[in-house]
Amino acid sequence: MEAWAEKLPEQLARALSVDGHGDLGRWEQLLKLLPACATRDLDLAADRIRIGREGEVDEATSRDILGVLRALQPWRKGPYEVFGIHIDTEWRSDWKWRRLQDHIQPLKGRKVLDVGCGSGYHAWRMAGAGAELVVGIDPSLLFLAQFNAIRHFMQEPPGVHFLPLGIEAVPRNLAAFDTVFSMGILYHRRSPLDHLLDLKGCLRSGGELVLETLVVEGDGNTVLMPEGRYAKMRNVWFIPSVAALETWLRRCGFREVRTVDVSVTRVQEQRRTDWMAFESLADFLDPEDAGRTVEGYPAPCRAVVLARNS
Ligand code: SAH
Repeated sequence: MEAWAEKLPEQLARALSVDGHGDLGRWEQLLKLLPACATRDLDLAADRIRIGREGEVDEATSRDILGVLRALQPWRKGPYEVFGIHIDTEWRSDWKWRRLQDHIQPLKGRKVLDVGCGSGYHAWRMAGAGAELVVGIDPSLLFLAQFNAIRHFMQEPPGVHFLPLGIEAVPRNLAAFDTVFSMGILYHRRSPLDHLLDLKGCLRSGGELVLETLVVEGDGNTVLMPEGRYAKMRNVWFIPSVAALETWLRRCGFREVRTVDVSVTRVQEQRRTDWMAFESLADFLDPEDAGRTVEGYPAPCRAVVLARNS
């Protein structure tokens, strides 16, 4: 990983200097307001990632923690529980983890990259499953602040790192990671095949790709490209069928390509909560036909596909 380590200081300095909305300063201030309490009592293998227990801190401290965490909204990926405070995130990210955890190569002792890691929920779960090193990358500085807020309360944090960078920052053909996750990213890429090749370049020979993305029904030649928005999301480019996606992976040189899960996303998995006040899946679906998005496309359905680097 030396090739990347050399570039990192400059990449990070640049990432942290581009503070588009001036929010970074506010988030840094908020993190400074977090009470200085940390615990060794963690459960990173729990569906609701647990840090400490209710009653471990006094009421005033708990109120201060709640205030800062609330100010770091919107919380999209989780859930977490911090000294008894339940961060009920927009997504039940544990559902996604459940769909793949028994299918992937065991993470024990592996070096893992999570591309587009959000607040870091799955990255912590990877550590909970025994990964030796987890590097999560995501250009969102809010998600960096959320990750640091969670990490703040860990007295002995495991080897989980959040880098506020996009996949573009990973040097080509690094060939360093045993497992690479790309979940919820591919359909946002204008060049999905290049994304698959970038992921391949991150993997050591024989390493495993865990890919999770939107799919549509259809044969090996079916790919949906929405005319405009898809489920109100901008930047959705290609939604392939499972068969087409598997072909893409093989054409990119992956072997042992196999789909281990296909699930329609339910409104219980992605929803508005006290911690995410904006629109969510129920608002993205046709009120008359839950099988369609508001734009008339098939409603979100996601696949988990595993593949091995040659
Ligand atoms: N992997 C998580 C989050 C998916 S949401 C999950 O499956 O639940 C997609 C994430 O990709 C967002 O957090 C977004 O900030 C991030 N992202 C956007 N552009 C990116 C890029 N160029 N490289 C890596 N991640 C990116």
